[in-house]
Amino acid sequence: MKKLIFIFVVLFGWTGSSDCVTAAEKYTIAVAEIMQETNSFSPVLTTREDFKAWALHFGDEILPIARDLDLEIDGFLEAVDELGKGDITVVPIIKARSMSGGPVQRPVYEEFKQTLINGLKKAGRVDGIYLALHGAMGVDGLRDPEGDLIKAARSVVGASVPIGISHDLHANLTRERVQQATFIVGYKTNPHRDHAEVGYRVGEILVKTVRGEVKPVMAFNKMKLLKGGGMTVDLLSPMRSIFSRMEDMIDDSETVLDASNFMVHIWLDDQELGWSTIVVTNNDPALAQKLADELADLDWSVRHVLPPAGETPSAAIAIARDKWLRRKLGTVVFCDVADAVGAGAPGESTWILKSLLEEGADLKSYLTIRDKEAAGIAWNYDIGDQVSLSVGGKLDKVYNRPLDFSGELIHKSEERLGKTVILRHKGIHLILTELSDSLADPGYFPDLGLSLWKADIVVVKNLFPFRYRYLLYNRKTVNVVTPGTTGIDVSRLEYSKISRPLYPLDDNPSWR
Ligand SMILES: [Zn+2]
Repeated sequence: MKKLIFIFVVLFGWTGSSDCVTAAEKYTIAVAEIMQETNSFSPVLTTREDFKAWALHFGDEILPIARDLDLEIDGFLEAVDELGKGDITVVPIIKARSMSGGPVQRPVYEEFKQTLINGLKKAGRVDGIYLALHGAMGVDGLRDPEGDLIKAARSVVGASVPIGISHDLHANLTRERVQQATFIVGYKTNPHRDHAEVGYRVGEILVKTVRGEVKPVMAFNKMKLLKGGGMTVDLLSPMRSIFSRMEDMIDDSETVLDASNFMVHIWLDDQELGWSTIVVTNNDPALAQKLADELADLDWSVRHVLPPAGETPSAAIAIARDKWLRRKLGTVVFCDVADAVGAGAPGESTWILKSLLEEGADLKSYLTIRDKEAAGIAWNYDIGDQVSLSVGGKLDKVYNRPLDFSGELIHKSEERLGKTVILRHKGIHLILTELSDSLADPGYFPDLGLSLWKADIVVVKNLFPFRYRYLLYNRKTVNVVTPGTTGIDVSRLEYSKISRPLYPLDDNPSWR
């Protein structure tokens, strides 16, 4: 049977010329960002247009844009400015970032990879590389694209050049990446708010490495653990104390350079899917391994704490109906957990709409379904017309179903999400859009003429950001659980590639 315990202590050599570096010598660090989070269960592939909609820039145009974004490259540049002593030249190659979604189209990925290779070759002498990668990207027909990218960079520059990687906390670490990279640093917040700090950390370690001031070594644990959902928030029990211990491991004396706990994007179907821990020390592999083991033990000790169960659509509607006063003072927000566009779902689930039609039509509700075909048909009607359509369930046919809906057309506009129409049936306001969105920005509704103060129920398609962005209006959050491509019950997801045993699917005795 395939061995499932992967513990690596990876030692990389000194950067070649560090012993004879002089203060006047200049260094070059190449930087590239390729970030997308893949939901393997989504049938909607991520295109070049999806990257262009968020960020797709090349070469010299990258730095002025990145400086204002408070993301990874911004933090990295700050570290170079503060610690590089004017000796570091940054060579930007590519910045590609997209909303979460289905796997990236293979030709799009190959273009990005070739751009990285060409950029590194063109840069001439490279003393270090920073790759800002999500860590849970999938590509149609290729597994572990981040490992493939790091390997490609390594093949250009050779074994002695340090390659620093930053990853999202939901990255799925692989053996290949740990073998090819010099060190890997992850976000330390969930919901994520430390992108720039993580970029700074990579910059700090890389600058000191190319200058010969530190020698990063990395210890890595792959765990037989697969959990997601609400129990991984850094501010809340049970993970709060583990995040705190992780931060305490990192010291200022340059012994422990970084420590990361990767809790994995559970919707990436991959043979190495599972939580990981990584600790980077200054040339102390035994200490790195000891601390990486401690983090994994802490994670394992709270494995029984499950994410909040959530409510069925029917129970959720009953809760909203019961909260009369809260509805009058604001609204009740339904988190459509299993159709979370923010985690890569298509955004076309009909399960909540079905229940609203059956038992909640009297309540005033705003619900969005991405359906290009239905939005296009409704677009041809006039305001005030009665429109009957089959909506949703056209992309994901495994967990979702189309639903018949009839309503009065009350709004038409060409928005950020393409043709957008609103059909009203009693209190139900069904918003049909051509493109999907996580609805993390509450301003979306007023832009369509819908007041959040007047709604009883508002349905959103992201798992975390709405919890603080909707605070002004939200009087009660209800997590609504249905079948879907971002369901948090891993026993209901149709994995075909993961390796077993894996807790909680199997009751394995240890994370090792
Ligand atoms: Zn994440």
